[in-house]
Amino acid sequence: KYESYPYEHIQELRKERIAPSLYTIYKKPLLLHQGHKQWLFDSEGRRYLDLFAGIVTVSVGHCHPKITEAAHKQFGLLCHTSNIFLNPPIHEYAEKLTNLLPGKLKVVYFTNSGSEANDLALQMARVYTGNCDLISLRGGYHGASPLTLSLTAVASYKPGITLSTNCHTTMCPDVFRGVWGGSHCRDSPVQTIRKCSCSPGSCEAKDQYVDQFKETLSTCVGQRLAAFIAEPIQGVGGAVQYPKGFLKEVYELVRERGGLCIADEVQTGFGRTGSHFWGFQTHDVVPDIVTMAKGIGNGFPMGAVITTQEIAKPFAKFLHFNTFGGNPVACVVGSAVLDIIEEEGLQKNCEVIGTQMLLEFAKLRDMFEIVGDVRGKGLMIGIEMVKDKESRKPLPAEEMNLIWEDCKDMGVLFGKGGIYGQTFRIKPPMCITTEDVTFAADVFQRALTRHMERSQK
Ligand code: PMP
Repeated sequence: KYESYPYEHIQELRKERIAPSLYTIYKKPLLLHQGHKQWLFDSEGRRYLDLFAGIVTVSVGHCHPKITEAAHKQFGLLCHTSNIFLNPPIHEYAEKLTNLLPGKLKVVYFTNSGSEANDLALQMARVYTGNCDLISLRGGYHGASPLTLSLTAVASYKPGITLSTNCHTTMCPDVFRGVWGGSHCRDSPVQTIRKCSCSPGSCEAKDQYVDQFKETLSTCVGQRLAAFIAEPIQGVGGAVQYPKGFLKEVYELVRERGGLCIADEVQTGFGRTGSHFWGFQTHDVVPDIVTMAKGIGNGFPMGAVITTQEIAKPFAKFLHFNTFGGNPVACVVGSAVLDIIEEEGLQKNCEVIGTQMLLEFAKLRDMFEIVGDVRGKGLMIGIEMVKDKESRKPLPAEEMNLIWEDCKDMGVLFGKGGIYGQTFRIKPPMCITTEDVTFAADVFQRALTRHMERSQK
């Protein structure tokens, strides 16, 4: 079928017919043909270990047969904008999904993407609180709509035009790169090598970052807030983890100013952090609104906002409609994803394999001067690359790219992130194995060794 679409022709079409802002990665972008579990295959049959899960989108494994079957069956039965009528899939799925959330978080709005979910959550917060100001953390990514882009604090995604007003970004409490923090601060099997004077139970870094947050609050209109939105571990920002206790204190401050707390679980949800099903649970907080997408559908475009009846009520004064949100095919897909996570013990696998991965990469950090930090929880992992450990200056983009390309040529696809593009990201399908960890660490070590040899020439 695709014989008339050889690589060169596809590249021409890409240049001439596809939105130029839609970027590809790698010098010679991969022409993918097929996905299976944690593997991707290109059109020439080469196999790659996908450590990035198509940007953290594939949760239970590429092309899981149970999902294919559920979608196929439902597509042949009923698939339209059926939510103005009643149909079973949305109700069954809404019940199953909200059962996984604590307390009163039981009301769900279905969307088609993470941007839509966050946009809706932020609007609901403004309607519920009657306040306008919104706060996010620098390095956070929350979407591509004008409102979510205003809270997305990664410059490369921002078009040079005025976006929404009353949106503030505050200092990211990054205990490796930030001004405060170090070896005692975060919740990970691997701590940073940067020493700090914090002790368990009293984290100076956390106190300093909370003070910064208070300052940002004081710049809001009437010192009141509609919402604070944050990822439990930053994704695009490079698996940045905050000091323990930071989110808990900030949530209290937000509520004191009349605001709602939104947890953006687009990357961290569905068991990826291993110890818990939702990333916010690792911070011992309960948000007012939780947003999710990506892994919710294992590659199928869908998202959701979950909140309480109390918050949902004032918003119900307005008509809210989303043509495809919660369509029956999406709902059976989402439902199958939840079953698979449970049946195949994938949350536990994230914890076990994620810890193995972190420890293996921490060994490489200790061996190579340019590996500055290894961090994360479960299969939400970042490897921050530096010029040297002392300065913590980001490894230049050209050097990052050489290592990245080399890993790809050896069959392993890493993600990249961080505000300087200085962090390799490991967020694979949740079904990866110990053998994959060994393979990935081996490939990374070879790429680093070759890089060091190149730099010494
Ligand atoms: N929130 C987070 C944490 C994300 O990583 C992303 C996507 N990178 C989004 C929201 C937006 O999701 P989408 O691309 O589905 O609109």
